[in-house]
Amino acid sequence: MPELPEMEAWRRQLDEPVRAFPIAKAGPAHIATLKTFDPPLAALEGRRLAGACRRAKRLLLPTDDGELVLLVHLMTAGRLRYLRPGEKGPKTPAFQLVFEGGARLVLTEAGAKKRAGVWLLTPEAVEAELAHLGPEALGLGADRLEQICADESRRLHSLLRDQRVIAGIGRAWANEILHAAKLSPYALSGDLSDEEVERLATAMNDELSRGLALREAGASDQRTYRVHRRLGEPCHVCGTPLAQVDFEEHTIFYCPTCQTGGRVLKDRRLSRLLR
Ligand SMILES: [Zn+2]
Repeated sequence: MPELPEMEAWRRQLDEPVRAFPIAKAGPAHIATLKTFDPPLAALEGRRLAGACRRAKRLLLPTDDGELVLLVHLMTAGRLRYLRPGEKGPKTPAFQLVFEGGARLVLTEAGAKKRAGVWLLTPEAVEAELAHLGPEALGLGADRLEQICADESRRLHSLLRDQRVIAGIGRAWANEILHAAKLSPYALSGDLSDEEVERLATAMNDELSRGLALREAGASDQRTYRVHRRLGEPCHVCGTPLAQVDFEEHTIFYCPTCQTGGRVLKDRRLSRLLR
């Protein structure tokens, strides 16, 4: 799933082109992709976008008259592309905007399950839609993070991914950040020392910045991730083969030497206990 670095790289890339021309046609949209019906998509036609903004993993495209906002959440498999006039695109995009002059913004989604979403909202409705989100992960800072860790003691991997607590991190960057911080994914936030919180805050900022720079340069997953989905490959810090463990709905990747003092993490999913 695209996370903060990926979405921010896209935002920067789309910011200029989306405001170059007014929207000539909004849609069509797949019935499962378009999540709102009032105001209708046609309300966008003739308006110009003010650019691209981002909140957490969502992209926001406000109109320059301040009346409407198109919100896009790509979920796991959604992809956005800006196509220049005449450039070939997908036959049936899940959603598209056609600009005057022929450029298009198209959303595609691989697989049969349509999870990506597009919402056309008023600014007030956007505010309500985003109200549950915690502060942005990039630039969060140690003081704020210390408060978050003290508020409730949670396993770090799960805490980092909880959008209500910290916004923008998913499973891939949680793996990268915890490895850089040399902290166990299972460590409890309430047990961290001041020095460990500091390390986590630094790692969060450094890793997300590293990811953003790489994604802006068009780097692949393979070039970007050093821990995520690299089971058995040598840790880039100490050379130990990286390990994995199933946790909640997904898989955590970690280095047993750098992060868990040599301990191998046990699968803690409830479903596993009930088997
Ligand atoms: Zn290591």
